[in-house]
This record gives sequence, structure tokens and C-alpha cells, in this order.
Amino acid sequence: MVELDNLDVRILTHLQNNSRKSFQEIAKSCLTSIPTVKSRVDRLLELGVISKFTIDIDNTKLGITEALLLVNAKPGAIGRITEELRELEEVKELYVTSDSDIAVVSRLAGDMKRILAIQDRINLTDVNNIRIVSVKNAFRKDATIPLASSSITLTCAYCDRKMTGDAVRKKFEDKDYFFCCNTCQTEFEKKYTKLLANA
Ligand SMILES: [Zn+2]
Repeated sequence: MVELDNLDVRILTHLQNNSRKSFQEIAKSCLTSIPTVKSRVDRLLELGVISKFTIDIDNTKLGITEALLLVNAKPGAIGRITEELRELEEVKELYVTSDSDIAVVSRLAGDMKRILAIQDRINLTDVNNIRIVSVKNAFRKDATIPLASSSITLTCAYCDRKMTGDAVRKKFEDKDYFFCCNTCQTEFEKKYTKLLANA
């Protein structure tokens, strides 16, 4: 498990919201230097925490339909089916579940005719059931790091204590800060407000 500190998490949050954000902007917002941001990003890339810089396209604007594919298959066939599905352009996400009723779940996007034809494009040997359901409404949450359920170690922005899991998260002027407890958050807020007042 990779250990990240507050600065790493804040840099990641910035890049997740906008991967084109300049190191200069990130440095300014995180009150640090451009070389620091650069070296942190290089490290995150090296560690594979950042796997790639990508863009998010709104499919609906392009008239692209989304659907879900649900497959029930014999255990021995799942590996082959997932390999076949991975080759298809319409397959955007693919999950092998631990459920025997639905062994493979996939998010599909593309032309509906081609999506429906997937059933003819893969080998259905040992497939008990295959269903394609079109998506009516997609509610996607952002891909921000699920701090409460991950084992990232953060340090409290107020007392510097190391903490895992339940950090108190609070935004000050659009920046995320993490605290070990509500008391630290309140104290930090007092100090921060004072700093702002004196600025
Ligand atoms: Zn604290």
C-alpha cells in the first residue's frame, strides 16, 4: 500500500477535477512550490497511483447510448468470455463478480444496434444467460478518493497526527483539508479565519 500525505491527496484532487491544471496553479493553491508539485506528481506516476491523464467525454452529447451487460456463465467459461469482451470497442468497463448468478457485469457504450449485436459477436458456449439492458439515467459520482474506506495515511492539518480512515474533511476556500477530529477542525478554522482577517 502506498502512503500518501495531505499534499499528495490535494494534488490528486486537483488533477482529478482537471488533469490539465498547471503545476503553477496547483502549487499556488496548495501553498507550495512548482518543483515540489512536479516531484510529487512524478512520484505518484512512478508509484502507479496516477496511471494516466485522461479526459471525461459526455457520451450523451455525441448521441452514444449506454447499456449494461449481465452474463451468467459456467465458472470455467468466465475467463474466455471476459477476454473476448475486452476486445470489443463498446465494452467500457468490465467486472467479474463473486456472484454465481451474474458472473460478468459490463458497461457498454456505442450505437445500440452494435451493442445488441454483442450477443452474436462472442462465443456463447457455457453461457447460461446473457442480458443487455439499456441505461435510462446514469448517475455517476466523481472518482475522488474514498478516504473513509481506504487505507491512505493522512496527517491532520492542525496537529500533524497520523490518521487512517475516518478523517474529518473540510473545504476552506475550495481547498480540501483533513483533520483527525472535530476539535482540530474547529481550532484550524479559528486560526484560518484569523489569518484571513489579518491578510
Ligand atoms: Zn488533529
